Amino acid sequence: MALPAEEWRAVAAGRWAALQPALRERLAAAPLRDAVLLGCGLLRPEAEEAAALRRLCRRARAGKEPAAARCYREEGNRRFGRRQYAAAARLYSQAASHERPGSPELSVCFANRSAALFHLGHFKVCLEDIARAQGHGYPDRLLPKVLLRKAECLLRLGRLQDAAEALSAVENKITVDQTMTSATHQALLKKISQLRNKVHEKESCPEPAPEAHGAIQRELEIWEENDSISGASSSLSLNFDLDRGRHLVASQDILPGQNLLKEEAFVSVLCPGESLLLPDSSETVWDTRVTNADLYCHRCLKQLLASVPCSGCSYAKYCSQNCADLAWEQYHRTECSLGALLLTLGVFCHVALRTVLLAGFAEVSRLVEQSHDDDKDLHNPEAKCKHCNGAPNTRAGIPGKAEPLIPGCNDSGQYQSSYQAVFNLLPHTEKHNPEHKFLCTLSVVAICKKLQEAGLEAAVLNQESSEEWSKPKACENRSEELSPELKIMAEAMLRHVLQLQCNAQAITVMQELESGDGAVVNKKPVRLATAFFPVLSLLNHSCSPNISVSFSGTAATVRASQPIPKGQEVFHCYGPHRCRMRVAERQQLLKQYFFECHCQACLEEIESDVKSVVSVRNSFCCPSCQASMQGEDTLCCSNGACALSVSRESLSQRLWDLQQQIKKALKLLSNNKSDQAIKMLLKCQVDAGNFLSPEHLLMGEMEDHLAQVYATLGKWQEAARHLQSSIQIVEMHHGPSSVEMGHELFKLAQILFNGFAVSEALSTIQRAEEILSVHCGPQSTQIQELKEMKTCLLELPRSILQRT
Ligand SMILES: [Zn+2]
Ligand SMILES: [Zn+2]
Ligand SMILES: [Zn+2]
Ligand SMILES: [Zn+2]
Repeated sequence: MALPAEEWRAVAAGRWAALQPALRERLAAAPLRDAVLLGCGLLRPEAEEAAALRRLCRRARAGKEPAAARCYREEGNRRFGRRQYAAAARLYSQAASHERPGSPELSVCFANRSAALFHLGHFKVCLEDIARAQGHGYPDRLLPKVLLRKAECLLRLGRLQDAAEALSAVENKITVDQTMTSATHQALLKKISQLRNKVHEKESCPEPAPEAHGAIQRELEIWEENDSISGASSSLSLNFDLDRGRHLVASQDILPGQNLLKEEAFVSVLCPGESLLLPDSSETVWDTRVTNADLYCHRCLKQLLASVPCSGCSYAKYCSQNCADLAWEQYHRTECSLGALLLTLGVFCHVALRTVLLAGFAEVSRLVEQSHDDDKDLHNPEAKCKHCNGAPNTRAGIPGKAEPLIPGCNDSGQYQSSYQAVFNLLPHTEKHNPEHKFLCTLSVVAICKKLQEAGLEAAVLNQESSEEWSKPKACENRSEELSPELKIMAEAMLRHVLQLQCNAQAITVMQELESGDGAVVNKKPVRLATAFFPVLSLLNHSCSPNISVSFSGTAATVRASQPIPKGQEVFHCYGPHRCRMRVAERQQLLKQYFFECHCQACLEEIESDVKSVVSVRNSFCCPSCQASMQGEDTLCCSNGACALSVSRESLSQRLWDLQQQIKKALKLLSNNKSDQAIKMLLKCQVDAGNFLSPEHLLMGEMEDHLAQVYATLGKWQEAARHLQSSIQIVEMHHGPSSVEMGHELFKLAQILFNGFAVSEALSTIQRAEEILSVHCGPQSTQIQELKEMKTCLLELPRSILQRT
């Protein structure tokens, strides 16, 4: 979803192929400013491409549609009836996002959701939803039931005075209500008196105050901030040379787990997930699957329990009204009506737009104009010398006197997480594939034309008071030509889209997988958002990095994952890691960053004949005698007595079939058919043992799945046994102190905890804590959860402890 929708890519490719060769050449060589001008000329409203884009946008459901709201609400009611409260709450949220603000239907969504939240035990959020329902005009005759729920929440939260007041309010309400049948009336009165008794009970016998959440003291980390790089530790320094460009180096010895950088994203955009684009035909089918947009706040990426929908569109959902208001003020007033277009053009275009909106027109135009001056200087031999070291910001003019500034630094030599730093990330304009550059140009121009057409230009340029922003004027400027200001914005956006290819940072989280109601939560890392982190972007790539990055909301934290001696460069892994891919695959993937990797791991694999860890471990074995196999296209058994030979293709096919079987087993598991899932997984294991090496990652994955199924059944010993086998394989592939190992040990700790295997649980918690605090820090949720488990185990009566 980073790139535009496939169909739009095809349209742009068709147009590119049909262009005059001379024009293609001009476009390929054009600086960004000229590319935008040429793009404007090509994407006229009457052009076939513009029509195709309008058609594609109709598929992206970003507006409010009453039919969708009804469908989601009805499905929500069905799930509620089946006591699937979490699913019901999510469906009511989806319904709410399609209702008009202030409508009784919206208030019903909130009231229904409050009921689901009540059953889930989220009393505080339930109260918020009840207030929302009231705020949006919840029908008076239905109010007593909701007010009773409010009283019950207050009671559960220990707010007895408020609960008593709420009960009196319900009582008053039903005494004046003439429309109520006497049966309903009686039922309500009975409930009121029950609750009132509970209030009295609690008043006469107050419970000890519930322990404050997160009672465990969070350790404060020692942190000395760098003078010249914002958010970085003082153990780093920013260096620059021709080979490596800008990079960060340890200015003193660094220990594993040491905090090196904390940075808030300059901009981030939630990845919507695939299902927002529906096929053309499905007019009435509404997708009830949940996507990132249903699970995380559109602005701060916090996990959503009861989302607040945008009042204008159906795709932006927030954790709170405050987030909704901030997003509106900062960028969403411009983005709101462009939802369908942004979903069609993909996340990179969306990030580019949001970047210029956050920076503001004044800053964007200052830097764009400065870049034009620098370009002019480039063609002027006298000014050229200041570029020859790649450090164009040498403003002192007297060579040798002033220290040259590193690009992106401000005039006092500081590198900050600012728009200037984002602007100075390398766009590699001349290295991009010309056809790709053309696609990006057309996409960016399409956004700017839409902004002009929708009367949003003034909002983009911050020219009006905020009251007027909220109601965009109908199109005044129908001329095909973009205004000079929008052309500047388009040029900056094109730059950002191109920069993203090398500098986009994925924000990932460990997402809980939905599978039954097992006490063990299975988590896997998912890509949540795409962001610019200008300081994090200073780190170069290595396939064997010496840091670990973790995210909390839109903030990134970088920690050393191993000792980094003074003077050594600090490396981040952009994706291709030596434990996951062979050197050839890695080099192929790294081409998008326009460099060849010369990291230690790559050099070792290229120069020596030693095969990579990946290809040795993830290999096939002989289907006849299980000895190892040798060869490329045709594999021969290494056992002389056997000498079987098979084509790699047939084994790959068998592997693919096996993976499909495993998927089916997981499907069974998610439908609560655990016994069938176990049978199927055990069969897969036997099959896999016939042709995969015992160290194959898939072997470990199957063990992991089995552990998961047994955990949902409460068979903790079996679960632990399978997970231990999985852990052995993870350790072989990723190493004993890898973050992957930490996550597996975390799971094992949960299983042992649930199975009351106290001493084993304690030692596993210890190991998991050691590893995860290096990668994620002592304040991460996982460490807190481990600590809570430990406290709980240590508080167990001695009799139980001695038994184990
Ligand atoms: Zn939020
Ligand atoms: Zn909106
Ligand atoms: Zn490498
Ligand atoms: Zn054999």
